[in-house]
Formats: sequence, C-alpha cells, structure tokens
Amino acid sequence: MTEPVSRDCEGGCACRHVRYRLSPPPLIVHCCHCRWCQRESGAAFALNALIESDRLQLLSGHADLVTTPSASGKGQRIARCPVCRVALWSHYAGSGDRVSFVRVGTFDEPDRFPPDVHIYTESKQPWVVLPPGARAFSQYYKSREVWSAQSLERREALQR
Ligand SMILES: [Zn+2]
Ligand SMILES: [Zn+2]
Repeated sequence: MTEPVSRDCEGGCACRHVRYRLSPPPLIVHCCHCRWCQRESGAAFALNALIESDRLQLLSGHADLVTTPSASGKGQRIARCPVCRVALWSHYAGSGDRVSFVRVGTFDEPDRFPPDVHIYTESKQPWVVLPPGARAFSQYYKSREVWSAQSLERREALQR
C-alpha cells in the first residue's frame, strides 16, 4: 500500500444530508455474498468495513436506524439517511452497537478498502470471480484465525 491507511476517511449518503468521518484502519473488510446482503443491496454482494462505533463520527445530518431481518434471525439495524434512504452502516446482534459495519460504497474513496475476506461464498453469484489467493469462506469464519493481531486486540478492548 502506497498511502498511510491511517488517514481519516470521509463518506456519506447520496443527497449529502449525512456525512461521516471514520478513523481507519477498519477491523476487517467483509465482502458478503449471502442472499440477504444480495437482497438488501439489490446487487451481488455487500462490502462492509467493520469499525468500532467510537471511531465513526457523524459530521452532519443524522441517520435513522431501521430494523431489518438478517440471516441469523436476530436482525440488524441499518442506519439510513432520513432523506434519501441510502444505507450507510449497520449494527448486528453479535457485536451490538459498539461495532459499525460501514458500507464501503459510501466512502468518498471506496477504492481504499478492498475486501480482506469473502464470506458466504456458498451463495456467491457465479459470474463473480474472486481474485486468485483471496481469502474466502463458504459461510462464516473464526475471527481468531482471520483477523490481524491488532484487530483482535481492539476487539478485546471493546469487550472490557
Ligand atoms: Zn441522503
Ligand atoms: Zn451477508
């Protein structure tokens, strides 16, 4: 990587009511190929950067949290712009409000955060061809085996 990943990253919705800033690096970037993400995005997969919610700062506007069914059955809360309704991030039951799954496509510079791991590839649309060597799991994975030591430490800190 040629640029420091620690540089702040801004983003927002389509109508610019909601603007946010986050402090990278993300804990991990998921490319999720599950059917639920396909339905919710209307596309082939969802790209989410996981980050501690206290590293995600709202610069303007506010987001509505919309409860939405999820694959686990426990639901997720999707933060959407109240004006244009674009989805910006989600909270899942597992990690709760302390972790935000930020939609990479809403970053001003989405190219900075390619996926670290592909999940639920069992339902990957067949035309999506993963790059050689990409980390991929047919369903989910064990964080301990995939996350960097720093990210695992940050997660530990969240649970204290
Ligand atoms: Zn908007
Ligand atoms: Zn998914």
